[in-house]
Amino acid sequence: MLKIEQLEKLRKAGRVSANAREKGIAMVREGAKLLDIAEEVESYIKSQGCKLAFPCNISINEIAAHYTPSINDKTVFEHGDVVKIDCGAHLDGYVGDTAGTVEVGTKRYTELINASKTARDTVMEFIGETCPINEIGRVVDMTIRSKGYAPIKNLSGHQIKQYNLHAGLSIPNYDDGSTELLQRGMIIACEPFATDGEGLIVSGRPGNICRIIRDRPIADLELQEFFNYIKEEFSSFPFCARSCDDPKATQKVNNLVRHGYLSSYATLIEKKKGCVTQFEHTVYIGGRRGEITTLSDSSC
Ligand code: MN
Ligand code: MN
Repeated sequence: MLKIEQLEKLRKAGRVSANAREKGIAMVREGAKLLDIAEEVESYIKSQGCKLAFPCNISINEIAAHYTPSINDKTVFEHGDVVKIDCGAHLDGYVGDTAGTVEVGTKRYTELINASKTARDTVMEFIGETCPINEIGRVVDMTIRSKGYAPIKNLSGHQIKQYNLHAGLSIPNYDDGSTELLQRGMIIACEPFATDGEGLIVSGRPGNICRIIRDRPIADLELQEFFNYIKEEFSSFPFCARSCDDPKATQKVNNLVRHGYLSSYATLIEKKKGCVTQFEHTVYIGGRRGEITTLSDSSC
């Protein structure tokens, strides 16, 4: 169980990430730049006294996740795009991880958007202590399939621990036969993905997001200093060059990736180029009923 002061940090990080998500979603419109939205979302998180648990992911259409705009990114939203905003704040390592989906100027994908949202919200009605993990998956799968779509089976929710975004348990989006139960004190991210494609993702191009995978002395002093800065600023969390306070960050990050100190995440693409939607909440398993930490100030 978390102590009350830890729980308060988790709650604040959750609320801030939810408000950031809503700000981002509200800015999505035809012609708007992905970069402007990512920066707005991230500066809001920092303005509230939190740090980024990961860069704001803005993933469009068949890209399920793991894209954040680079510093020179000129990409704009187009009419008909289906946009996932996935953002996270942390306070002393206690994370809020949350996502939502919106369509740009059309209503072609309303049902697909509702499929992942309803799946998540149905899980929110029963998630709590002693909840079987495969029951969450079963409900997500059933909810999405009942609307004629497929859940993405090789993406899942996850347990979160302090300073560890993906820790311990995976929370599947189908019944994987797991016999484990949620336990009091766990922090869980539930994130159903729905698609009109096959229901599998494959790796695409790099999406500008990295994390530290090797912490060893680096011969080049300037690079070592930059590496120290990354460790201090982002800890073990995913980050991107755009968030680094260094004019040569992109070059240095690429260099560290090449030498195996950092790993770069690939974008995750639906195998049949199906359209993908996603909704995500973070939940604290404080008792029989979980507490959703990623509700925004405007949600009732
Ligand atoms: Mn997320
Ligand atoms: Mn997550």
